[in-house]
Amino acid sequence: MTETHQLLFLAAVFAALPMAASAAADCGSDKLGTAREIEINGAEGLSLGLQSYPRSLDLKDHEVVLTFDDGPAEPTPQILEALKRECVKATFFLIGNNAKEMPHLVKREIEEGHTVGYHSMTHPDRTLRLMSLDEAKADIDAGIAAVNAAAFGKAGEPPQPFFRFPGFADTPELLNYVHSRGMAVFGSDVWASDWRKMTPQEELKLVLERLEKEKKGIVLFHDNKPVTAKMLPEFLRALKERGYKVVHLVPGSGETPVAEAGAGWKSTTAPIVDKILKAKQHEKHKAEAHEKAAPEKEQRDGM
Ligand SMILES: [Zn+2]
Repeated sequence: MTETHQLLFLAAVFAALPMAASAAADCGSDKLGTAREIEINGAEGLSLGLQSYPRSLDLKDHEVVLTFDDGPAEPTPQILEALKRECVKATFFLIGNNAKEMPHLVKREIEEGHTVGYHSMTHPDRTLRLMSLDEAKADIDAGIAAVNAAAFGKAGEPPQPFFRFPGFADTPELLNYVHSRGMAVFGSDVWASDWRKMTPQEELKLVLERLEKEKKGIVLFHDNKPVTAKMLPEFLRALKERGYKVVHLVPGSGETPVAEAGAGWKSTTAPIVDKILKAKQHEKHKAEAHEKAAPEKEQRDGM
């Protein structure tokens, strides 16, 4: 850089400063905002979220972590706008193939202060559980590389410590593998069931009812669902009105605050996943018996 260029560069930097300050000032007390951060240490081999695992983050009453799966996708910009209007930071569990197709949206998530995690490369319809171990590992690795290339411009960057299994279909071997790669595994504590057909009003009512029952937790949405994009502004307003606080997950190296499940804990997802996978295997065997490919499913089972 010549001296003139350096001066121009500095002038541009200083010109940009008041803009950043005024954007922050827009996040007044009338906005939901982001109350605090929790650091996730990927070296601890954690699996969190009471719907699948007997422990979750140690959240206080009325604290929520917002997570969005299966993006980036067409409704993602609408989701990002809604979050920005309320100064809320979220975590996105991205499908590698989608990140490859829409890297600008992954970059935007990073630029707007959100956290990105991984959700496999292909979100395989048969799930990672029904793949061979090597195939499943390769799908996980490819997903990390694709998201890192889109988010940070470097496929070989060490993973961010956030992974969620497509359809919650983990296995002990795959949990070990994900942990060995320095990632915590995230299930959820509350979900919006936004893979079901429903109106934004129905989704809003359902997720608020569930949240009021649990009182806190890691909430799962899908940013590829237009219904969720339509519902989100009202959901964020409702959180504000009901006194909820948003907690943002960030990578860290300290001890992750974890709370163990109470006695009598049961997995919500295990029986559902077993049932879905049995049906899938049955379909597959039937198709093989008829010596023809199973019909293309229009939609995945959503989780
Ligand atoms: Zn998914």
